[in-house]
Amino acid sequence: MHGKTAHELHSLLTNKKISALELTEAVISQIDKVESRVQAYVSINKDQAIKQAKAADERIKNNSNLTPLTGIPVAIKDNMCTKGMLTTCSSKILNNYIPPYNATIVDKIKAAGAVILGKTNMDEFAMGSSTENSGIHPTFNPWNTKTVPGGSSGGSAAAVAADEAILATGSDTGGSIRQPASFCGVVGFKPTYGRVSRYGLVAFASSLDQIGPLTKDVTDTAILMNVLAGHDPKDSTSVNLPVPDYQKALVNDVKKMKIGYIKELLGKGIDKDIKSEIQKAMKKFAELGAELIEVSLPSFEYAVATYYLIAPAEASSNLARYDGVKYGHRSKEAKDLLTMYYNTRREGFGNEVKRRIMIGTYALSAGYYDAYYLKALKVRTLIKEDFAKAFSQCDVLLSPTSPSVAFKVGEKAADPLSMYLSDIATIPVNLAGLPAISLPCGFSQGLPIGLQLVGQAFAEETVLRAAFTFEQNTDWHKQKPSL
Ligand code: GLN
Repeated sequence: MHGKTAHELHSLLTNKKISALELTEAVISQIDKVESRVQAYVSINKDQAIKQAKAADERIKNNSNLTPLTGIPVAIKDNMCTKGMLTTCSSKILNNYIPPYNATIVDKIKAAGAVILGKTNMDEFAMGSSTENSGIHPTFNPWNTKTVPGGSSGGSAAAVAADEAILATGSDTGGSIRQPASFCGVVGFKPTYGRVSRYGLVAFASSLDQIGPLTKDVTDTAILMNVLAGHDPKDSTSVNLPVPDYQKALVNDVKKMKIGYIKELLGKGIDKDIKSEIQKAMKKFAELGAELIEVSLPSFEYAVATYYLIAPAEASSNLARYDGVKYGHRSKEAKDLLTMYYNTRREGFGNEVKRRIMIGTYALSAGYYDAYYLKALKVRTLIKEDFAKAFSQCDVLLSPTSPSVAFKVGEKAADPLSMYLSDIATIPVNLAGLPAISLPCGFSQGLPIGLQLVGQAFAEETVLRAAFTFEQNTDWHKQKPSL
């Protein structure tokens, strides 16, 4: 049961072939079997999950209020607030934080009747690409536990790949849903900025952060998007637009669809094996009737540098609230208020988080603001304009999700710049606020490769349709790691 998708399980549940309790127990026993090797979770809520599964069985028995998520076990990234349940962001500074409220997406998932298994590990405050920056413990890639699962939503991606959850949520500021999805061989989708409410998502870089699904196939992504998407008066950046039924977008047809492959992301710096699998994917799309066009986005060259000014600048402001006063860790070694602030932050934050706070504070300081932060905002506009130009010629853009497959644990831990470069293909999409998916498209050295498809703002349906068509005509998503 634990190896199946939500849509397969939904029909088994509603046809009474299995119960939600049996399903939840099956997933929990898979967790018991593999979690010591994968370490995808930071907290697991077995008792609550069993209770929720029984409640789901009641709903199924009475045939009342059924949704495609009723009785489906879901994992939540640990930067999304869960009432009464630890929400640590994998940081020591929040290691005792129990929110008094739910994130909007948690309320929605619960209202749909899903079972919440627990909270997944991440890079501290979502800063990282390997989940090695977790302040709690690292997570390992189910395909090869000597390699990283990607990050920052590495726990969610690994949980889905290892069948320790049927569905999971992630957040994506510069690639944190798509890159781990690519490393773990699952589907990861970042919606358009504003499509999903950020209320109750612990803020990293507010103009970039977006919540989305990590799933075993594209259909499950559409199903979870149907629950997550929509306007929320509690998030002023969430957009008040009608939400389509994303499952209806899943049409196996790309005839006449114009797909632009990004020249800059198929050249220097991209591994040979990745390039060749992406080229095979392009051929597949052509066989299926799509028209492939080369597009150039010259300002991509500046995207990583731009991101590493804007994201830390916003983070330095967002993380000012962790001072030991209202919640979270408070240093015991303090004689006065100022030393309490200093010590709390010194003890509570990890090195990467401190590095970002320092870069961001620097970039926003008087005298540097114009030279760095303001300049970065201008380049961000150029990147948006490059995308607009590209979309005047095509419907979706195609590239690898990541320039390499999963790297070895420790390989990049001491070199932040090489870590930052692993988001070279995903970061521009966040800067422009666009929707993008990563889906499996091949293997290299036994590790999965991800294909990225990007759409215009609020054209989630086009992206899902292209992804669904590719998936229906390939078998990559059916491969499983042998843990
Ligand atoms: N890896 C990028 C970073 O470290 C992106 C993280 C994310 O999307 N949350 O900032």
